[in-house]
Amino acid sequence: MLKHIYDFVVIGSGISGISAANTLIKNKKQVLILDKARNSGGRLSTRFHPKFSFDHGAQFFTTKDKEFSQIVQKALQTKDIAIFDHPEKGTVYMGNPVFRPFISKLTGPLEIMQNALVTHIQKPEDRPDEHWSISIADVPAVFSKNIILTMPATQANVLLPSYLKKLKHTTSQAIYEPCISILAGVEVPLSSSIFPGNTKLLDKPILLQKGNISWSIAKWSCSNENNTAYLSVVIHSTPEFSSKHIEQDVINFSNCLWEEWKSHIKTDDIFKVSALPKNISYLKGHKWRYARVTKTADQKCERTNQKHSIAVAGDWLEGPRIESAWISGRNAAISLLPQD
Ligand SMILES: Cc1cc2nc3c(=O)[nH]c(=O)nc-3n(C[C@H](O)[C@H](O)[C@H](O)COP(=O)(O)OP(=O)(O)OC[C@H]3O[C@@H](n4cnc5c(N)ncnc54)[C@H](O)[C@@H]3O)c2cc1C
Repeated sequence: MLKHIYDFVVIGSGISGISAANTLIKNKKQVLILDKARNSGGRLSTRFHPKFSFDHGAQFFTTKDKEFSQIVQKALQTKDIAIFDHPEKGTVYMGNPVFRPFISKLTGPLEIMQNALVTHIQKPEDRPDEHWSISIADVPAVFSKNIILTMPATQANVLLPSYLKKLKHTTSQAIYEPCISILAGVEVPLSSSIFPGNTKLLDKPILLQKGNISWSIAKWSCSNENNTAYLSVVIHSTPEFSSKHIEQDVINFSNCLWEEWKSHIKTDDIFKVSALPKNISYLKGHKWRYARVTKTADQKCERTNQKHSIAVAGDWLEGPRIESAWISGRNAAISLLPQD
């Protein structure tokens, strides 16, 4: 049987992988994205529960890049993205109410295999014109003329064959800090003493940055039918707290960060926190080992090896932001496309 050979395989369906694939399909290339996760988006990630929804990775972004700005403008029109007035950063963009619909629109035209953990990529060093063989856990290998790695640098480093010394060196330069993220969901009857005289509370997200909490956002949603308000809270712990606890089971400190969040709400008198029900409906944690890039790879380092048809991309090359990841993915794709 003849084996199918893609023009491009992109590993990772985060923003940089989506951007790379988007550029490639615009150039009529046949592209497959492989991602080990259940859903696309990478660190721009949403978790759903029947009553709550949480963006537990990236929270908001800004845009300057022309192409990315146009995409965001479209998403504003379809209401997948909303403008948010950030107290320090001014106008930023957020998921409306979460990022998943935005990601779904971006990935709609792309061929993506989720739950596909790439374990190995292979091509003989002395036969650069051969195709890549890409091994995936539990499913048959796939083959491609070109390959783009878009995962965090540390993970890309492990996959790169040892003969691609310069690319390996590039991946060894990036430094990350971790983030422990807590997701809490609480159901509050609309008759609760939290609300009378304070119904405006339901309209605006509650932001909090204090103590071990570097960022927190709490959003209300409402069911008049059930006479209930649902509070979805995302808490990101500081880099110091996260580094200290990253090797521990997240369950150990979910509760303590939740209690800390409530204590700040109480001290700042944001609402009557004692009126929250004692039993919390949802409490989960997530450990982002490679959350925020604190040092990007040197601009002069190799990002593409044209001879072997392979490139790397990700926020660790351009900067720790959604838009930088987008730019990086596009750059990687362009670097492997035939030049006019
Ligand atoms: C807690 C947190 C808060 C943040 N806040 C903001 C913010 O407010 N604003 C902002 O602009 N940015 C923020 N960021 C940073 C932003 O999320 C990233 O810059 C951006 O999402 C990186 O995209 P990426 O495509 O480069 O990488 P990723 O999103 O990490 O994508 C890499 C993908 O590769 C996949 N993968 C990895 N290894 C393999 C493998 N072996 N096989 C198959 N697939 C694999 C992963 O599953 C993942 O989907 C935040 C990040 C975190 C974690």
